[in-house]
Amino acid sequence: MEKKQRVLIVEDEKNIVDILRFNLRKEGYDTQEAYDGEVGLALALQEAPDLILLDLMLPKMNGFEVCKRLRDQGRSTPVIIITAREAEKDKILGLDLGADDYITKPFNPIEVIARVKSQLRRYTSLGGKSG
Ligand code: CA
Repeated sequence: MEKKQRVLIVEDEKNIVDILRFNLRKEGYDTQEAYDGEVGLALALQEAPDLILLDLMLPKMNGFEVCKRLRDQGRSTPVIIITAREAEKDKILGLDLGADDYITKPFNPIEVIARVKSQLRRYTSLGGKSG
C-alpha cells in the first residue's frame, strides 16, 4: 500500500484548520496541525511533511518567519501560504522567502486541494524530498 502523503496545516483559526483537515483527509492525505508559528516550524523540521499550508498572521512567529527559517535550514518542502492579507507586497515577500504558492482567504477548499496536488506533483517530479 502506498504511503499517504502528509500535509502540515499551520493556522491559528480552528474553523479553518477543520475545513482544511476535512477536505485533505477526504482526498486521502494525512494531516498534522499547528496553531502557532513556533510549533509549526518545529513540526516542519522534525516531521518532514510532504507539504505545508501556512497562514501568515500567527501567534508567536508569523508565517513569513516560519517560511524563511525553514528555507534557512535547507528544507525545500513545498509551502503554500494561505492568508487574509491580499496586499501585493505580502504576496511578493512570501514568494521571495521561498513560498511556492499563495491563496487568499476566503478560499474555496476545492481550489486548495487542486493547488496541493499540483505542488506535490511538481515536487515529486523534481526528485522528491530533501531533509
Ligand atoms: Ca491567522
